[in-house]
Amino acid sequence: MAKVKKTIKTIKIDADKCNGCRTCEVICSAFHATPKYSSVNPARSRIQIIKHPLKDIWLPVFAGEYTPVECAGRDKYIIDGQEYDECAFCRASCPSRDLFKEPDSGLPLKCDMCEGEERPLCVTWCLNDVLIYEEREEEVDEEVEQHQLEIGLESLADKWGIDKVMDTVARMSKKG
Ligand code: SF4
Ligand code: SF4
Repeated sequence: MAKVKKTIKTIKIDADKCNGCRTCEVICSAFHATPKYSSVNPARSRIQIIKHPLKDIWLPVFAGEYTPVECAGRDKYIIDGQEYDECAFCRASCPSRDLFKEPDSGLPLKCDMCEGEERPLCVTWCLNDVLIYEEREEEVDEEVEQHQLEIGLESLADKWGIDKVMDTVARMSKKG
């Protein structure tokens, strides 16, 4: 199987430094507005700041993969002896909550590392150095890459119907 070089981009989160200013949500939603920077709507952001209502803890969570079904498990997090709600820190766009869904179309959102930009904008705009950007090169199988793309498109079409997915893609490419 042919191997291709791929740049793996990651963002480390130094959560202790986060003060919950939500600048990262603002810039991410502006970047992903159509046209770009035409509006700010944190519901459109691929990063969400989760705050526990009683404890002063802020945690940035990046939008991850879409899942068509809720997970069977119900994770609990205990931090400093405090139990957090199930699902609170999950990255998935899933049917059981509104988080990481495009507010207009309902389609799932996923962090794309600010495609086309040299550096993720949330990293640049976070003045507290919470978000630390890293890049590394890895060799991956070409076919696996293609397969993953197909699974993603199939899942979207199953859930929303191929017409709605195609409409959204056409609308975004026209305005982008
Ligand atoms: S911009 Fe930085 S400090 Fe502000 S909420 Fe986002 S991660 Fe936290
Ligand atoms: S890397 Fe870009 S797309 Fe991902 S959360 Fe940050 S601003 Fe949004």
